[in-house]
Amino acid sequence: MKRAVVMGGSYAGLFAARVLSEYAEEVVVLEADEAIGPDGMGTRAPQRRQLHALLAMGHSQLERWFPGVTAELVAGGALLGEGDDVRFYMDGRLKAPAAGTRMLGATRPFLEATVRRRVAGAANVRLVTGQAAGLVVERGRVRGVATADGEVLDTEFAVDATGRSSRLGNWLEQGGWDRAPVARMRIDLGYATGTFRRGDELGSTVVVHGSPGPASGYRPTVTEAGGLVAVEGDHWSVVLAGYAGDRPGRDPEEFRARMRRCVEPLRTVADTCEMSDTVETFHVAESMRRDYQRLGRFPGGLVVAGDALAAVNPVYGQGLTLAALQANSLAAYLRSGAAPQDPAWGYFRRAATVVDAAWQLSTTADLAQPHVDGPYPPGYPLIRWVGDRITAASIVDATVNTTYTNVLNMMEHPRALTRPALLLRAARVLLAGTGRG
Ligand SMILES: Cc1cc2nc3c(=O)[nH]c(=O)nc-3n(C[C@H](O)[C@H](O)[C@H](O)COP(=O)(O)OP(=O)(O)OC[C@H]3O[C@@H](n4cnc5c(N)ncnc54)[C@H](O)[C@@H]3O)c2cc1C
Repeated sequence: MKRAVVMGGSYAGLFAARVLSEYAEEVVVLEADEAIGPDGMGTRAPQRRQLHALLAMGHSQLERWFPGVTAELVAGGALLGEGDDVRFYMDGRLKAPAAGTRMLGATRPFLEATVRRRVAGAANVRLVTGQAAGLVVERGRVRGVATADGEVLDTEFAVDATGRSSRLGNWLEQGGWDRAPVARMRIDLGYATGTFRRGDELGSTVVVHGSPGPASGYRPTVTEAGGLVAVEGDHWSVVLAGYAGDRPGRDPEEFRARMRRCVEPLRTVADTCEMSDTVETFHVAESMRRDYQRLGRFPGGLVVAGDALAAVNPVYGQGLTLAALQANSLAAYLRSGAAPQDPAWGYFRRAATVVDAAWQLSTTADLAQPHVDGPYPPGYPLIRWVGDRITAASIVDATVNTTYTNVLNMMEHPRALTRPALLLRAARVLLAGTGRG
């Protein structure tokens, strides 16, 4: 291709640009946020201020596309947690160790700024400030991206990476195409992030995650849902999550009080560390995916990535990893020899496989929340019953927890949790625990 244009220069857009830099003479990344500076913050994607955990799969794909980036991040103050440095609690109990656990501790802006620098360093990639306002489609294929300034950037291939509130559906409709069918699940999630100065109060801890599980009916009767990540600049990024009427607020004292109802490491930070920034809150009304793969016709030379394609409940930390895996889908599609000017069904099919896995995991877990009322997948009561038992076994058994953690980290497909050997082991563990062997 002569030129590819990526609309949206945040995490998903940067990954797409990295892939396209191998297939186009020139890649233009059009980003509307004039305020994104070297600190990676900006104003238009305010979730950047929230704690972001990078799942193991997301980390491995980050290193795949940007070799040496882990060392670069660590040199800049990020932390790499292995083994006991990463601790998961459920219903107040420390979970059994999961083999091979490795997680990176960094803020989202730092991570994104590092990726942006790498992408901008490629000789054939140009980052441009400007707002995409429409598409020019001729004879069924994308020929240009129209900007809000009235310019048209000629292109043979366009990526929509403009995030959850993408306007692509409107642009398609204006051109006589259909918008994608949308699947939604109402979650009514409140997320709040506080930042604390980090000393040696938790030793080499990098990640702690605590959540209510099956014993408490997934309601915070034992511990609140919360987590912390050690990040650059000697800080803790601490997150609290709550649903419906129980959403955490911005008041620092209320934040600390709520941390004291969390698992022990969060209580320690609440009691001993100084808060170094305001509490930032975020409301996520729903999980949402746009199923472009189900459309009958679509313009050639156009793909959709990141939250513009699927934005799932952030408590499972899947968004950045999905963006990276969709970049892999794009690479596999382009490598397959498909003509870039044709409708990119091969991309959408691959990306849907990835989204399916994340969606299945997050929506099945969300349905356990009393205020979430569907849509239920076929066979949900059985899925839930089995899921609860595997989750309970994962708290006490390292083998079950290793697979469970691999699935949560998107290193394995959720179907790994239905392998007969795993189900049998979970049953044995639970029966041994109740003395009903
Ligand atoms: C509260 C919260 C917590 C989260 N925590 C995690 C986590 O722990 N781990 C994780 O992996 N994920 C997490 N996520 C998800 C993650 O933030 C998203 O998946 C990720 O930001 C998606 O990246 P993106 O590039 O698709 O979209 P965005 O980051 O939303 O970026 C879209 C970009 O497009 C630009 N743009 C928009 N319209 C236009 C236009 N017309 N023209 C040009 N540019 C435009 C915007 O300015 C923006 O920069 C969380 C999300 C939320 C809301």
